[in-house]
Amino acid sequence: METKSGVPFFRHGLRADDAGPIADVLATPFLTSAGVGRQVEARLCDFFGVAGAKLTNSWTNGAIATLLAMGIGPGDEVIVPAMTFIASVNIIEILQAKPVFVDVDPETQLVDLAAVAKAITSKTRAIIPVHLYGQMVDMEALRDLCGKDIRLLEDCAHCFEGTLRGHRPGEFSDAAVFSFYATKNVTCGEGGAVITNDEALFARLKQTMLHGMSAGADRRFENALYRHWEMNNLGVKANLPDLLAALLPAQIDIIAEKLTERTRLVARYREALDGQAGIQLLAGVPDCVSAHHLFPIAVPMGLRDQVLHDLNVAGVGTTVNYRAVHEMGYYASKYDFQPDDYPVASDWGQRTLSLPLFPGLRDEEQDYVVSSLKKIITALI
Ligand SMILES: *Cc1c(COP(=O)(O)O)cnc(C)c1O
Repeated sequence: METKSGVPFFRHGLRADDAGPIADVLATPFLTSAGVGRQVEARLCDFFGVAGAKLTNSWTNGAIATLLAMGIGPGDEVIVPAMTFIASVNIIEILQAKPVFVDVDPETQLVDLAAVAKAITSKTRAIIPVHLYGQMVDMEALRDLCGKDIRLLEDCAHCFEGTLRGHRPGEFSDAAVFSFYATKNVTCGEGGAVITNDEALFARLKQTMLHGMSAGADRRFENALYRHWEMNNLGVKANLPDLLAALLPAQIDIIAEKLTERTRLVARYREALDGQAGIQLLAGVPDCVSAHHLFPIAVPMGLRDQVLHDLNVAGVGTTVNYRAVHEMGYYASKYDFQPDDYPVASDWGQRTLSLPLFPGLRDEEQDYVVSSLKKIITALI
């Protein structure tokens, strides 16, 4: 993605020296999920103050295993915002449940809780709130409005280190699911995690994330004695190998420093762009410490693709997070959606683009992004 002498959209912070823990795994008997992963899981339980954590090979597979463990399937309705990454919704479709889209708040692009309340029916089995861009949905309020019988699965792909009124992900939901994909704030290339305080759900998850088997590979050979396993529930293959888990502890160690740097960079962007004609910034959620995963802006209707193109030509890496999911061909044709069915998500999805934001982005690189953007916008409006 790096353009010649330009500013890349993203540059990861891992170096060849970070591979030491991977070499250590090569000296252990199990290359797959074993002791290293269990240490990271214990660390996640500590960090989030929850009873159970399992590392997974992606957010997507972890979330599918979680919905399977919740018993969600055909005929069930699952509420999800229309403004999110497609994966938040695809997992519902994969289980042949029905995604019920709701619109988002125009100021924050987080799921609109009043719209959620209206979308709940007798068939609603779960809600998937998304902590979009790093700011958190009010989980306490969401729990109050949906009651105990509807499952809450938090999409925390953008929010590992964020808090709302001091509360971290996992506290008010049935499960919170993280992504350690290559561009996420904590990464091992591909990976994820599920955390929960529900012991019965956790016990089922350990099976649904491993083919539905009753014991993991290292446990099947514990004390050199083979033990039979059983399969009572259908599962997927979602466990993270120790080879990748080994990259995580060093990143969890520095997550607070990295957040300080992301916060500083966001403040610089806001200072430079606030009030600029033709540029809309998102509002901050009160009392929320954002994980600042992305820095999206919106430009006037009809200009986004030109701005995106002109920034790319100027050597600035940009992406779109996201076009509204109900407008994707698959969903639009299967459910016959019109863009206006979820007008806020649709509007933002046509006007938004994300600027480079990562620890290690240099001030002069950021200044170049800002000056290029201002020049491009001024010429177009
Ligand atoms: C990245 C992302 C996912 C998917 O994560 P994977 O680990 O790639 O499966 C899900 N939801 C959101 C909001 C994301 O940004």
